[in-house]
Amino acid sequence: ADTVRLLSSCQVINSVVNVVKELLENSLDAGALSIDIKLENYGFDRIEIRDNGSGIKAADTAVMAVQHYTSKICSHDDLEHLVTYGFRGEALGSICAVAEVAVTTKTSEDDVGTRYTLDLTGSVVSQKPSHLGQGTTVCVLKLFKNLPVRRQYYVNTKKCKEELKKVQDLLMAYAIIKPELRLTLTHNKVVLWQKAKVSDHRMALMATLGPNAVAHLLPVHHQQPEIVIDGFFPRPGMDCSLASSSNPDKTFIFVNDRPVHQKDILKVVRQHFLAQYPADSALNRYPTVMLNITVPSSTVDVNLTPDKTQILLQNKVPFSIILSISLQTDFDSQVA
Ligand code: ADP
Ligand code: MG
Repeated sequence: ADTVRLLSSCQVINSVVNVVKELLENSLDAGALSIDIKLENYGFDRIEIRDNGSGIKAADTAVMAVQHYTSKICSHDDLEHLVTYGFRGEALGSICAVAEVAVTTKTSEDDVGTRYTLDLTGSVVSQKPSHLGQGTTVCVLKLFKNLPVRRQYYVNTKKCKEELKKVQDLLMAYAIIKPELRLTLTHNKVVLWQKAKVSDHRMALMATLGPNAVAHLLPVHHQQPEIVIDGFFPRPGMDCSLASSSNPDKTFIFVNDRPVHQKDILKVVRQHFLAQYPADSALNRYPTVMLNITVPSSTVDVNLTPDKTQILLQNKVPFSIILSISLQTDFDSQVA
């Protein structure tokens, strides 16, 4: 049973960036407005995430890391109205199977916080009082300690540096979609990146990518029954040499606030950009783009992959077409 557990866990949790993503989403689901992420040795020695969210109720702490335990959905019906990032109840248990995990938490009802140490199966093995304020801190030590081949693969190659870059890109996406969130990333006690609380998405883009990246952006807004598209796209006819990069990662696409990697959407975005800026195609430059597509959650299936970055849409008209029309009409009206 332990082997089966280890095998399934290391599919959900296959790198530092997965751990950070799962823990960050748990913090956001708990309503946190301030999240501090600290890594040591690229996260392979220590990943610590501290939030000021709701905390975990004492009644839930015994089962929080039990495989498939989730406090977020009660029935199959709830799946159709998902408003949380998590719902599978898989992450915490899976992380326990591949690392040493401790969770410190305090709700508004608790007089004092508690630090729980979990074992490989996600069971609480010890607990002690903690002076920590309201919220939750999850500490993950020695990631992949029981998967030496995988650990060596990252630690002994430059792969661990790539992981850090991926963590930064991931945090940028959440920083952009959550303007009200305060976020910091620390590596080996050095603050690598931080973003303060801001008031809207444009400010969030500026705080995350710098003023140059947003100077040339125009807001996009398109609404039709069951779909709303909001975001920013480069202004036609501008020199966007400052704003574009050779890195496609500066295109931030969200569906219902969830960062996604959706090929058909990226393709539409790329085509529109190239139509506006033929020169950038030759230079292989990519624009800064942010688009948040809001659809009824019952029409999206985010369950295709454990990390939920691939989605399936039930819409008869694919959003790539709607997006293409909305970008076109938005620009025509703004240029006119
Ligand atoms: P899921 O997010 O799919 O529910 P997880 O394994 O990620 O599953 O988390 C299990 C449960 O632990 C959550 O449903 C939630 O009740 C609790 N939990 C985990 N992290 C936090 C946190 N940072 N703040 C509050 N509750 C948390
Ligand atoms: Mg979760």
